[in-house]
Amino acid sequence: MIRLDCATGNQGKLREFRLAAGHAPVEIELLPGYRDIPPCVEDGATFEENAIRKARHYGVHAPGLLFADDSGLEVDALGGAPGVYSARFAGPHASDEANNRLLLEKLRGVENRVARFVCAIALVERERVRGVYRGAVEGVILDGPRGEGGFGYDPLFYYPPFGCTFGEASDERKFSVSHRGQALLAMLRGLGLR
Ligand code: IMP
Repeated sequence: MIRLDCATGNQGKLREFRLAAGHAPVEIELLPGYRDIPPCVEDGATFEENAIRKARHYGVHAPGLLFADDSGLEVDALGGAPGVYSARFAGPHASDEANNRLLLEKLRGVENRVARFVCAIALVERERVRGVYRGAVEGVILDGPRGEGGFGYDPLFYYPPFGCTFGEASDERKFSVSHRGQALLAMLRGLGLR
């Protein structure tokens, strides 16, 4: 059994990673003392850059292997925006509602609605990068929200194989195909654990 510490303040992500790992011989734990460590500045130009910055920032506090992720939504008709700005699309500390409203405004009258959630995970040992892994899931942006579940852009993200938005799908169903789950599985394969 290998222990992997995860640098996240988000319990939902931790649960999603654990579910995605399934029966792989791995224990995913929140980095002890995570909340006492000053936060990392996430100003990289790509998901990968941000994930690496975060992982190296927290990796020096971990007893062994540690991973961190960065994720967001890429919309083809917007040239990949909001991308790394997904959380603050409508401004610093913007609410999910404000971000979703802005996305709908920018896509008003736009025919190409293709978008994907992307997640990059960086795995480090102290400050040494052991690997960087990417997962993605593609769907289309609706012209109004559907469903109360999930978070962020989930109510606008229609996933054709489910016939509903991520906001309408159960957590377990969403996690079974999610960008975070895909990136985690890529990391486990990289470690020879899958
Ligand atoms: P972070 O990886 O926590 O920094 O996520 C950045 C932003 O991307 C979030 O605030 C959401 O707006 C968006 N995002 C990332 N993953 C998801 C998801 O699974 N569903 C909906 N929005 C997401």
